[in-house]
Amino acid sequence: MKTIIFDFDGVIHDTFDLAHKVKNEATGKDSSKEEYRDFFNGNIFEAVAVDNEIEKNFLRLQKEAFKYLKLEKDIKQHLENLSKNYFLCIISSNQEDVLNMYFQNNDFVHIFKEILGAETHRSKVEKFKYLFAKHALKVEDCVFVTDTLGDILEGHKVGVKTIAVDFGFHESERLKKGKPFKIVSNFEEISLAINNLWK
Ligand SMILES: [Mg+2]
Repeated sequence: MKTIIFDFDGVIHDTFDLAHKVKNEATGKDSSKEEYRDFFNGNIFEAVAVDNEIEKNFLRLQKEAFKYLKLEKDIKQHLENLSKNYFLCIISSNQEDVLNMYFQNNDFVHIFKEILGAETHRSKVEKFKYLFAKHALKVEDCVFVTDTLGDILEGHKVGVKTIAVDFGFHESERLKKGKPFKIVSNFEEISLAINNLWK
């Protein structure tokens, strides 16, 4: 079963400004966008000191902000088309709770067969292993689409091929350091790259 595993933030929806703003509100600090971007050079949960109170605030504020997000029409169309030929899943560091709400609000719950977030595990490596085992997937039949260096590095740990997008949290220069299979700049190019991979 050919499978596309999507990251959520920065790929399906550009949540960078929202997350940066909410992070500053939750911590009461005024960290720069660059500082925030750097958290995603590795696994986000290893980069930020875990403070339960701050995390709770962050999640509460983020959930409120997510209520108003609209999934772009063009992205919807591409995902619809890809879902006709491939098994589509999400592996994210965000909350499954918030992502499920987002897809319900956008009337788009039928496309992703699995949405694995922080509640399943904080490590993407573990979430890949869980997904592969649950659906008896071969790693060579999977491709991971993400926007951060940290995710590319986690992908390498399980040997999954990564298509990086340069329209999310990290720019092309930084993504190159993780040596992804390919770097692309829009959903059209994502679809093309995937169809070429398995034609
Ligand atoms: Mg991301």
